[in-house]
Amino acid sequence: MSDAYAQPTTEADRAIPGPLASYTTLRMGGPAGRIVTAASADEIVRAVRAAEEPILVLAGGSNVVISDTGFAGTVVLVRSRGLRVVAEDATSVTVRVEAGEPWDDLVAATVANGWAGLECLSGVPGSTGATPIQNVGAYGQEVAETITGVEVYDRAEDTRYLIPATDCGFAYRGSIFKYRDRWVVLSVDFRLTKSPLSGPVRYAELARALGVEVGDRVALADARAAVLRLRAGKGMVLDAADPDTRSVGSFFTNPVLDPATYESLRERAADLGDPPNWPGADGMVKVSAAWLIDKAGFAKGHPGPDGVAISGKHTLALTNHSGTASTADLLTLAATIRDEVYARFGVTLHPEPVLINCTL
Ligand SMILES: Cc1cc2nc3c(=O)[nH]c(=O)nc-3n(C[C@H](O)[C@H](O)[C@H](O)COP(=O)(O)OP(=O)(O)OC[C@H]3O[C@@H](n4cnc5c(N)ncnc54)[C@H](O)[C@@H]3O)c2cc1C
Repeated sequence: MSDAYAQPTTEADRAIPGPLASYTTLRMGGPAGRIVTAASADEIVRAVRAAEEPILVLAGGSNVVISDTGFAGTVVLVRSRGLRVVAEDATSVTVRVEAGEPWDDLVAATVANGWAGLECLSGVPGSTGATPIQNVGAYGQEVAETITGVEVYDRAEDTRYLIPATDCGFAYRGSIFKYRDRWVVLSVDFRLTKSPLSGPVRYAELARALGVEVGDRVALADARAAVLRLRAGKGMVLDAADPDTRSVGSFFTNPVLDPATYESLRERAADLGDPPNWPGADGMVKVSAAWLIDKAGFAKGHPGPDGVAISGKHTLALTNHSGTASTADLLTLAATIRDEVYARFGVTLHPEPVLINCTL
């Protein structure tokens, strides 16, 4: 099993079926009915076909909140590895990457090979196969820009095929795959640009860190190093020694508001200045969930019940600070934050991770 993923560290946890906490970055979650490890696409298909319902496909465990009562069905651990070039021309290369390939290993390899397109996604934990699920994004890049197709096992039709990116329904932190268990991702195709330079830097904070203007290009390795530095400063790179990284990253998505709701937010926040915002299509406006949480009275490090806390480095990350906190306590903190933000600003926060056998 890959060292890249959360896994059991004690004898007790290694007992199968061990507590699912061992397989998640939050280190939370009760027992599984059965755990099966699949080390290739064929093994994933076989495991899913043979499994008794219900089935949970789990890879890096970095975007799931699993209940304290666990998951009574079969957990299929995705541990397939490898990537290969499937198409190439003078300016681009298309790589097919197995679902279980650790994401940051892939990003590091593309940067080393002079393939641009993923560099700003350095340091995101988890597997490659999970990146289409919520259209992973950070620092002005998202995988929807480079994915050309996703090979899936369709559980409803009992067949394998490639879904072109145009049919994946990619949206901000979403796709046709999120919250649905019909498709199991087996591999993902990315079309990358042969270039020693990054794409235009779109994120102001990253441009500042690189000492360039928004829109400039920088060496791929410089972009990767700057992103990793920025992320580490926010507890957004996994570090076993840092309890602020015992999280799912951002717990809430940035709300996308229609014009009327955005105006109402501006009025309610008049004493605080304009909320940080990113105008989108059709008058919709994305606002910062971290800002809303902070202004609703929850500072970095804010403690919740029994060992859970807001990260000391980022208002959006809810952490298992003690290392022994329960999912119920994490959800209590999350619900308190959501309700306070709604009471103060009239904006509903939605969780970014997938909740397994629990609700917020
Ligand atoms: C410290 C930290 C920082 C983070 N930063 C970011 C960030 O900047 N941007 C961002 O977008 N996300 C971020 N995340 C969230 C997370 O890393 C990503 O969503 C990642 O892609 C999840 O990968 P995983 O393999 O851990 O998925 P898991 O947690 O194992 O699974 C997540 C969901 O995907 C499903 N799934 C996983 N693999 C497959 C598959 N092969 N086929 C079908 N379904 C599958 C699971 O069933 C589950 O519903 C962060 C998380 C942490 C802990």
